[in-house]
Amino acid sequence: MPNILVIGSLNADLVVRAPRFPQPGETISGEDLQVIPGGKGANQAVAAARLGSNVSMLGRVGKDNFGDFLLQNLKSNLVDSGLVQREDASTGTAIIVVDSNGQNSIVLSQGANGKVSLADGESASFLHHDLLLLQLEIPTPTVLAAAQRAKQNNLRVILNPAPAKPLPDELIALADFLIPNETELSLLTGMDVKDLPSAEGAARTLLQRGVKCVIVTLGSEGALIVSDSQVTHVDAYQVNVVDTTAAGDAFIGGFATKLVESASLLANPQEQASALQNAVRYGCACGALATTQFGAQPSLPTKEAVEEFMSSREGARSLRSV
Ligand code: ADP
Repeated sequence: MPNILVIGSLNADLVVRAPRFPQPGETISGEDLQVIPGGKGANQAVAAARLGSNVSMLGRVGKDNFGDFLLQNLKSNLVDSGLVQREDASTGTAIIVVDSNGQNSIVLSQGANGKVSLADGESASFLHHDLLLLQLEIPTPTVLAAAQRAKQNNLRVILNPAPAKPLPDELIALADFLIPNETELSLLTGMDVKDLPSAEGAARTLLQRGVKCVIVTLGSEGALIVSDSQVTHVDAYQVNVVDTTAAGDAFIGGFATKLVESASLLANPQEQASALQNAVRYGCACGALATTQFGAQPSLPTKEAVEEFMSSREGARSLRSV
């Protein structure tokens, strides 16, 4: 079974639907509160676990009810939570208002996520994994230290630079795969990303900064693989979109799972390019399925659902080089 270590955020998402956003100083009535497990780290951990990966999560939550709730959620999704510590801080929380057009307005309270660091005893955990999955909702120095330790232990490193922020070249160079969406790619590079050629151009500047492969997720346009050995556009699957929340997390969970499963193919220069394309295609199927249901973690698909979906769509889509 693929062994994936996720070092990242755990949040309680507090969601209220309202007819519109309140003006400053105004109070309006919304629907009943929904408390949903979230945070990019936990979402990606759950995404990979539902797809059959063996996943451990390293992070921090508070010694509060939301912390209990998030730990219980990891357990029920078969994610090993042994490396999630309880802090004297509030659990990370996202306060989300959704208006009648489906637009989000979010206040993020980082809480315990801001305290994630690598304690000495945790170094050993790297040895038992094949791949490290990182995002940017925990302190950047911790992300950098984790990537360094992963490389010392021969783990592949996937970095999802979300939410986008400027990154040191040292960190970019430690990533085997950098997976931004169009907005994140644009913010990372300072370049306008509006179509495939501009996405390729921006991704190439990241190759120059040392990353081995960039995979740009392009929403309904699928994904673009840019490395020194290939530039390949993988089409999206056509689906009836209900809510695109967590499409990126589903993509990454799926891509990471397939990547570890295909480790031997990736080691063979003749098979490498197509193994990578297959992993991206699998990620696209996971992302597409996630858009067909509301919410973040509730919409993350299982291995069985993805396999059934892909076999029903076989031949209905194409791969082409640009
Ligand atoms: P993020 O959620 O991080 O913004 P994207 O919107 O790029 O990420 O979505 C990630 C992946 O999910 C895409 O590469 C694509 O394969 C799939 N996906 C997202 N939106 C759609 C859509 N409207 N139709 C089909 N597939 C989608």
